[in-house]
Amino acid sequence: MLKLKNIFKDYNNTRILNDINFTLPNKGLISILGPSGSGKSTLLNLIGGLDKPTSGSILINNKDLTSFNNKELNWYHDRYIGFIFQQYNLIDYMTVDENLSLVSNNYDYILKKLNIYDLKDKRVSLLSGGERQRVAIARGIIKNPRILLCDEPTGALDSKSSIEIMNILKELSNKMLVILVTHDVKLANEYSDYIISINDGVTNEICIKDKYKSLFINKVKHKNILNVIYNHMMNKKKRNNLISISFAIGLIALGLVLSIANGFKASIDKEEKNSLSRYPILISRNSYNIEDDIKDDFNKIENKVYSYSINHINTITKDYVDNLNDIN
Ligand code: ADP
Repeated sequence: MLKLKNIFKDYNNTRILNDINFTLPNKGLISILGPSGSGKSTLLNLIGGLDKPTSGSILINNKDLTSFNNKELNWYHDRYIGFIFQQYNLIDYMTVDENLSLVSNNYDYILKKLNIYDLKDKRVSLLSGGERQRVAIARGIIKNPRILLCDEPTGALDSKSSIEIMNILKELSNKMLVILVTHDVKLANEYSDYIISINDGVTNEICIKDKYKSLFINKVKHKNILNVIYNHMMNKKKRNNLISISFAIGLIALGLVLSIANGFKASIDKEEKNSLSRYPILISRNSYNIEDDIKDDFNKIENKVYSYSINHINTITKDYVDNLNDIN
């Protein structure tokens, strides 16, 4: 049984996988679905022991793959795991026979089963995409692994070859656990017993086809909304940091502009004051005829005369006049 517990994976401080938890059985076809860059291959590489998680454990029959020593890891790669890649990873200038002999000599029955026995002595460079992928599958299962990891095995194939390859993988999944990374939703839905979908590299949601529900032990954590927000923020750490920095720069710029404007106004006021103070104050004696102003009112108030008080009197002393005369 394969069990992933609290798997986190970061590359260069960017979180690629965030708290992945699931348990898979010994047999069946499991598809890992998700958009490009969501972390599907990363997940497959962790299961294949090609890379280590930042934290968490991968239990293979209750033994933690992340703590395997070199000997155990070699055994795991050699006996437990088979790999199939999108680009086949065969040696083009060698024949099928030579390619497979690098792994084992006991493979004739596999070639017959995969309908490629006749291609045995053909050079790989002369084979079609579908034929190459069959050879790659033969190499992947030659040592009878318990888990077959397939990274986009139909990604480079036409639809007819894709279906042929999926049929082979489906048949193999009766005897072993086949984990398939793909972005082909249609093929995944049609052939998988179980689908793990990775969204945005963060939220991992597991869909189980009803008929397989009892077979699979689902340990998906139900995260609350705050967790989801936190996870999204952490996942887009770089972007969020950039937004925060831009926002801070904006605020600082606004503060600077306001303070410069205030300082500028204060400076103009001061300059105005200084400039105006250089001019003398002119005070002259004036006469003012009240009657002109109020004679209309006289008529209105029936020719009655009212006193009109003047409250302010300029006191122009000698000292004051001398002071004014001293101003340049
Ligand atoms: P998928 O298979 O879903 O397309 P991958 O698992 O290949 O996605 O990649 C997920 C993210 O991790 C991508 O942004 C990719 O650039 C990054 N990534 C994958 N492997 C490495 C690595 N070895 N070093 C740094 N970043 C990596």
